[in-house]
Amino acid sequence: MIHDASTLGTPLELRADLCVVGSGPGGATVAMLAAEAGMRVVLLEAGELVTPASMDQREDTMFPRLFWESGGRTTADRAIRVHQGRGVGGSALHNLNLCKRAAPEVLAQWRQAGVDLDWNTLYAEAEALIGVVDVPESMLNRHNLLFREGARRLGWANGRLRHNREGCVGSGFCEIGCAFDAKNNALKVCIPRAVRAGTSVLARCQAVRVLHDDRVIHGVEGVAIHPLSRQALGEIRVLAPRVCVSASATGTPALLRRSGVPGRPVGDSLRMHPAVVVAGDFDEPVHAWRGVPQGWECTEHLRFDESVSRTWLVPAFAHPVGTATLVPGLGDEHAALMARYAHLGAVTAMVHDSTRGRVRPRGDLGLSIHYQPDEADRAALQDGLVHAARLLFAAGARRVLVPSPRLVTLDDPRAVDSLRDVTSPDLSAVHPMASVPLGEAVDQDGAHRVLRGLWVADASLFPTSTGGPPQLTTYALGLHVGRALIQKGVGG
Ligand SMILES: Cc1cc2nc3c(=O)[nH]c(=O)nc-3n(C[C@H](O)[C@H](O)[C@H](O)COP(=O)(O)OP(=O)(O)OC[C@H]3O[C@@H](n4cnc5c(N)ncnc54)[C@H](O)[C@@H]3O)c2cc1C
Repeated sequence: MIHDASTLGTPLELRADLCVVGSGPGGATVAMLAAEAGMRVVLLEAGELVTPASMDQREDTMFPRLFWESGGRTTADRAIRVHQGRGVGGSALHNLNLCKRAAPEVLAQWRQAGVDLDWNTLYAEAEALIGVVDVPESMLNRHNLLFREGARRLGWANGRLRHNREGCVGSGFCEIGCAFDAKNNALKVCIPRAVRAGTSVLARCQAVRVLHDDRVIHGVEGVAIHPLSRQALGEIRVLAPRVCVSASATGTPALLRRSGVPGRPVGDSLRMHPAVVVAGDFDEPVHAWRGVPQGWECTEHLRFDESVSRTWLVPAFAHPVGTATLVPGLGDEHAALMARYAHLGAVTAMVHDSTRGRVRPRGDLGLSIHYQPDEADRAALQDGLVHAARLLFAAGARRVLVPSPRLVTLDDPRAVDSLRDVTSPDLSAVHPMASVPLGEAVDQDGAHRVLRGLWVADASLFPTSTGGPPQLTTYALGLHVGRALIQKGVGG
């Protein structure tokens, strides 16, 4: 059953074999496997249950429902927007469905660091679980075709992406939830199996601490969350000999730190693929908002070493409100740029980052993210600006625009290198990861090395950044940790 905790009487105490915190790709997969193996599972999720039928395709209503801090989460210094989902299904509810295995170079680095899993098998299972297929040619919109054309004209490595969609009608609203239920995501695939196997999902229930005695885990203490104010209502406790924390690469280390979990520190190695965006102004209408947002990639500048070229290029797009917040200026100047909305294409350059950010709890319900790209990653971001601009010009853009405190415009393709001098481009990040890496505070199966019964299963576990979309690796780790947890038996 899925319950809305804000409607339950509190204080409330429940007993389970396993309490999972967080219902994204990591947590939902673990809950599904554990329940199907016969465990009594309680799954706590801070966000609400947002069903496709209630997704109204409006930014003003969906952002507050689907995103932490209504989509306004940033790093502590406010320099980087950090989009993270909240709701039954986690960030998979609103993500863009890209599914890609981590590159062999990345997996080789992980192996060298002592993390040696059977990735081929895990990826194949994860792909089957969420139905990963190529984006068909017929679903590449004009925006993606222009992107492909630009990469091909430059002779840059480029290719088709794979997605976990089925029955997609190309509405283009993926980022604020698919009203057509075409995403084979945690909500559609894992949660129903978990519930059929007896899992109790408590939506609007935020874990505040894991309960332990420094040696053994005893459960989770949480609170019901008010639907509107998002403040704490009454207390909810789940007593369980196993707890799997899957609250995302920011939520998990914040919860473990707030709980005073012993062992090696967590939350000091956050990566998040910081990204710049460059828009291209085309003579023709691009209508980038129509259809599948991202179906093609360019990997020409994605190296897996310490070189400056470490960016993954993909088409970027934003709905009108999102675009309006990125376009600087006021009044007529702002209106003139927004009048070009239908003609804008955009490319984002995400850095395969090496900066180590920090996550800390803030009060009982909040957290803070401290992440300032180091010099090498800054140079990589500026390098990404140049490549994104070059691709847009090659695709036919008349001018390119770089959002920064002052809008930078460039209409001479020969001058793209000057974009390396843009010192503060707007930065965003949608891929927090690697904050509780496998092999450090937790072993290679996600089991905590000190607290018996504590497990972690989400994107926190990545040993490094991947340089590509992280969800497939997260589902794969959910499968791996879920099985290890079941094999260890009661108390394990
Ligand atoms: C706009 C956007 C687009 C993206 N597009 C893609 C894409 O196309 N492909 C891709 O691979 N990746 C994409 N991602 C990233 C991907 O969605 C995440 O990497 C993935 O969902 C991470 O899974 P997770 O299980 O680690 O955490 P999450 O999916 O973040 O799930 C964690 C859950 O835990 C809950 N939670 C947190 N704290 C608590 C607490 N204390 N108590 C209870 N619950 C809690 C959260 O509300 C959340 O629901 C995108 C992300 C964004 C923001």
